[in-house]
Amino acid sequence: MRLLLVEDDAMLGDAMARGLRADGFALDRAADAGTAGTALRTQAYDLVLLDLGLPGGDGLVLLRGLRARGDATPVLIVTARDALASRVAGLDAGADDYLVKPFELEELAARIRAVLRRHAGRGAPRLQAGPVTLDPATHAVTVRGEPVALSAREFALLRALMDRPGAVLSRAQLEEKLYGWNEGVDSNAVEVHLHALRRKLGTGVVRNVRGVGWTMADAS
Ligand code: CA
Repeated sequence: MRLLLVEDDAMLGDAMARGLRADGFALDRAADAGTAGTALRTQAYDLVLLDLGLPGGDGLVLLRGLRARGDATPVLIVTARDALASRVAGLDAGADDYLVKPFELEELAARIRAVLRRHAGRGAPRLQAGPVTLDPATHAVTVRGEPVALSAREFALLRALMDRPGAVLSRAQLEEKLYGWNEGVDSNAVEVHLHALRRKLGTGVVRNVRGVGWTMADAS
């Protein structure tokens, strides 16, 4: 899962980034409206955390622009503007949720999970594919009911695959879900993590489609 964090307060942004990375998200950061606008036009994100008061423009303008070009990327506004009129304006401009500062990282993480769930059209908090279950809140993964311990990267890979049941994801698509702008990627890093993940999950759980990519097998 790759997020864009739009926040001009460096200290708050650093704290949010630490928490989100620890939660397994790949993260790009923008500290002004111009950088955020460019990022939103050039990179696909699973979710955007959007501050409203930004150098160079207002977050609400960015959000309206995004929706005006038909982009349905989930947006969670995170702002100090707590007035009823601001909250209503944010939601009516196309935000999926609205969180007022100050907030606890735990609540931010839970709201992100809720927005991603709704966006994927899922009601259940756990992901399921064939014999595998994955809990985004606790990071618990089971295969046929047995717990499996995964590294952070392996978990992120599995989550990306389980989030799009039936889809075949290419190496480039998986890399995008795993690494933000400033993280160097070894050319074969994704293959290394995939190899370890497939070994831990057991034969046939993650299928390789030759020349295309990887997908979750639909039956156990
Ligand atoms: Ca701000």
